[in-house]
Amino acid sequence: MAGYMGKILHVNLFDRTTTVESPDEAFYRKYMGGSGLNLYYLLRDMAPGLDAFDPGNILAISAGVTTGLPVSGQSRITISAKSPLTGAVGDSQSGGYWPAELKFSGFDAVIIKGRASAPVYLWIHDGEAEIKDAGHLWGQITGDAEQQIKEELGDEKVKILQIGPGGENQVRFAAVISMSNRANGRTGMGAVMGSKNLKAVVVRGKQRPQTADRTTVNELAKWGAKTYPDSMVAGMDLYGTASAVLGMQAAGGLPSYNFSSGVFDQAQKIDGTTMTKTILKGCGTGEQNRLGIDTCFGCVVKCKRVVEITDGPYPVDPVYGGPEYETVATFGSYCGIDDLPAIAKANELCNKYGLDTISCGATIAWAMEAFEAGELTLEETEGLELRFGDAQAMLDLTELIAKREGFGRILAEGSARAAGQLGKGERFLITCKNQESPAHMPQHKKSMALIYAVNPFGADHQSSEHDTEYEQEVFEHFSERLAFLGLADPQPAAALNAAKVSYARKTQQLMSLMDSLNLCQFVWGSTWQLYGPEQTLAFVRAVTGWEVSMEELLQVGERRLNMMRRFNAREGIAAAQDTLPEKFFNAPLKGGLSEGWKVDKQEFEAARSEYYRQCGWDETTGIPAPETLKRLGLAWSIEK
Ligand code: SF4
Repeated sequence: MAGYMGKILHVNLFDRTTTVESPDEAFYRKYMGGSGLNLYYLLRDMAPGLDAFDPGNILAISAGVTTGLPVSGQSRITISAKSPLTGAVGDSQSGGYWPAELKFSGFDAVIIKGRASAPVYLWIHDGEAEIKDAGHLWGQITGDAEQQIKEELGDEKVKILQIGPGGENQVRFAAVISMSNRANGRTGMGAVMGSKNLKAVVVRGKQRPQTADRTTVNELAKWGAKTYPDSMVAGMDLYGTASAVLGMQAAGGLPSYNFSSGVFDQAQKIDGTTMTKTILKGCGTGEQNRLGIDTCFGCVVKCKRVVEITDGPYPVDPVYGGPEYETVATFGSYCGIDDLPAIAKANELCNKYGLDTISCGATIAWAMEAFEAGELTLEETEGLELRFGDAQAMLDLTELIAKREGFGRILAEGSARAAGQLGKGERFLITCKNQESPAHMPQHKKSMALIYAVNPFGADHQSSEHDTEYEQEVFEHFSERLAFLGLADPQPAAALNAAKVSYARKTQQLMSLMDSLNLCQFVWGSTWQLYGPEQTLAFVRAVTGWEVSMEELLQVGERRLNMMRRFNAREGIAAAQDTLPEKFFNAPLKGGLSEGWKVDKQEFEAARSEYYRQCGWDETTGIPAPETLKRLGLAWSIEK
């Protein structure tokens, strides 16, 4: 079977056993890999209603069919489990070199259940797997544990996916980290790993995935490298994703002061261009291209940052990389902080302790707003003055959260649970299904209001294409790519009508496919990315040799979304949870271009009903109808 290694590793931590499954071609073609494959095991093998920290929770880690091939944007993994943050399905992606190495070690996926009686790590190499003691690694920050594992295995080139103290302490938004600087950040997958006493999954191998049509794969790789300098993503290498700050600011869509405003007066100070000029490793020496710019296996886009600060109040170790746009916004404009070195320090802390930067920064911003409004007292914060713009307080809180100490004990539960426990601050929440919103504003991009609400794993900015790409004047540039998906009815950014719902739903299916193929959404997508959907189809065909159509591929994405909805329904999560925080409806934005903007509740509710109808879900409950599940080959999930 070209593309796949043909083996899935099952790990039972209870009795420290491993088994290998070799699914047939029909299985792989139906679920593809990544999130789609993970959901199959979650839905099939997990009992409903378990607590996320119950040993029966399944932690599934999968690569994709194209992972490990020398083409840009393919080295990614998805980690899924029931989320301790949302109580719904959890799902999170990251890149780097670990995903490709998993394939080289001989496996497409690792499915983990049970809980070890003491800390362990998993060592997978050349088709073999061992469970090794990790008592000596427990409590270590990621950079130290990474070095120690390499030393004890005697191989500098092993790739390590691990949790830090945040996951060990079961911070509900703990991340899983590889290379000490790549994060499967969202939905608390690190906390699930911690609850299993699993410190790390280490991979190494010499096997390589095969392709059915090597010539076409090579041509696609060469086309990407040649086209990148003139593409819409050109410049990502020099300035990184944080260069989006000023564009968001100009549009009135830079979330500031815990989503109270869409503008931040000091935006220039935290933009990616400033980062490149001031704190990127090698900046000012002419060497930043070599030292400060990093990439994932085989990717020419090279958007990853490496920051180094050696003096001043916030020294930053380059081992822990540098902040992305989301991190710059959550620790920066969300918290009213314009100190870029402090933001880079917060990024370092999250990577060394293993925390999701989005939920961590947003939870601190929530606490700052509640404190400034007088709802949180000094007694509750255990003496911490939490004011917007206070960089030191933000950093202190990040440490306390990771260690579950002081006021960090409560914030480690996430902002929604913290508000519940304290009985305060609910009106300041920016959470959907208890997950803090990323840095794209539903008040500014209308279809994000819908997708944040209906997305099965909470607010997410990478689950659909954004409104701005479907506006008439922008659409002209992308019309061919969108027409390939059957989208040819451009709409104003402010519209949330049936045509916009259709756009959101169709591109959601495409992004859902991307998370099953595990392709990077900066490189592969439907509009501005380096490669378009026609090339995605060509890539999958060339790798697998299957005569798949775009319709069949989109159905893989649709199937994954329906499995997620099915999983959530079993956990009691359906239409009632498909909503937005009251703040988005009731608190108009202040200042700048977006002054007065808010989400219209009636318009939102009409769009949600239209979305359910278009999806083939019950229009009242939002649960997939039996005929929809049957059409997608998921009749077995009804019986389960
Ligand atoms: S675009 Fe960036 S995140 Fe995506 S694969 Fe390339 S280097 Fe990695």
